[in-house]
Amino acid sequence: MDPLLSYCEAQLPQLVETTESLARLESPSTDKTAVDRCGHELASRLTRLGARVETLPQHACGDHIRAEVGGDGRPVLLLGHFDTVWPIGTLARMPVARREGRLQGPGTFDMKAGLAIAMTALDALRATGTAHPPVVMLWTSDEEIGSRTSRDAIEAEARRARAVLVLEPSLPGGALKTSRKGCGEFELTAHGIAAHAGLDPGRGASAIHELAAQIAAIERLQDLSRGISVNVGVITGGTRPNVVADEAHAVIDVRVPTSADGHRIDAAFRALQPLRPGTRLTVKGGFERPPLERTPGVARLFDLARDAASSMGRDLTEGATGGGSDGNFTAALGVPTLDGLGPIGDGAHAHHEHVVVSELPWRAALVAALLNRMQAVE
Ligand SMILES: [Zn+2]
Repeated sequence: MDPLLSYCEAQLPQLVETTESLARLESPSTDKTAVDRCGHELASRLTRLGARVETLPQHACGDHIRAEVGGDGRPVLLLGHFDTVWPIGTLARMPVARREGRLQGPGTFDMKAGLAIAMTALDALRATGTAHPPVVMLWTSDEEIGSRTSRDAIEAEARRARAVLVLEPSLPGGALKTSRKGCGEFELTAHGIAAHAGLDPGRGASAIHELAAQIAAIERLQDLSRGISVNVGVITGGTRPNVVADEAHAVIDVRVPTSADGHRIDAAFRALQPLRPGTRLTVKGGFERPPLERTPGVARLFDLARDAASSMGRDLTEGATGGGSDGNFTAALGVPTLDGLGPIGDGAHAHHEHVVVSELPWRAALVAALLNRMQAVE
């Protein structure tokens, strides 16, 4: 048996214990005290692993954790987050529990098991004396709310790295993510002129009618056959039925497969013109995450991973997802990025969130074996 795999198989209890401990430290992105508690636990585990650990202090959200292992040369960046979408108190109705081969609980799949997998992979490399390039780990605290405070650090580390491995959950069955859509959020506000709807309707200009016409135009930007989705997810506006509305507001989620599509859609939003006399429009927002495109560098990285998996008798596949991650930022810089190396399971952001326990060891061995193979790739 592959020595990395047999080491990781023997570490199954530690993989489970680490995931459970981190999941029991609830860490909603917006609660700094709670997130820092989880980050502190993570940092002490990394220190025990022999990593040089640094915290990147933040005011508005939890501190990010940076840890380094190994010597000279361009590092590989391991990327992930320890914040979750689950508010404090979720554990009371959704406890961390093992049932029928699953480890369930808030944040297990997205993505505390991914952190456990990365740490076990490094432990396995060290314990088996397997060669690997220097590794920088960046574990952040605000991914679930758009990575506003971590993006600079992520991009700076990625620029220095030979490649980026993201420990986000895998696709169903364990497939890696070799493309992710870019994600945008736009806010469109229509401004009109208020008037009495009965006494003086001609004096008004309805912001709601204007917004409705704009929404019809926005919908035409959608092209699902090309993977471009445009969803007007929220609308608000108006005050009373007998008042011509002077303001109406829409929030629109946009997903695109390529950055060219992103630029085109962004330009289309900026170019929206009012269709009714007396109204005007304001547009805010834009693309928060550029797409992760399957470049030749990404494909080469996947080939290495598939090769590593096949050495342990596993057939590794790849796929695309509409959801974004911090891998979108690093890939957009042209740094080869492989995402979805984390656990196999289901239910990210959902009540049935869980990881499949028996699959944890080979995922850790996969990350270790991939790092070994990346030794040769500068
Ligand atoms: Zn995540």
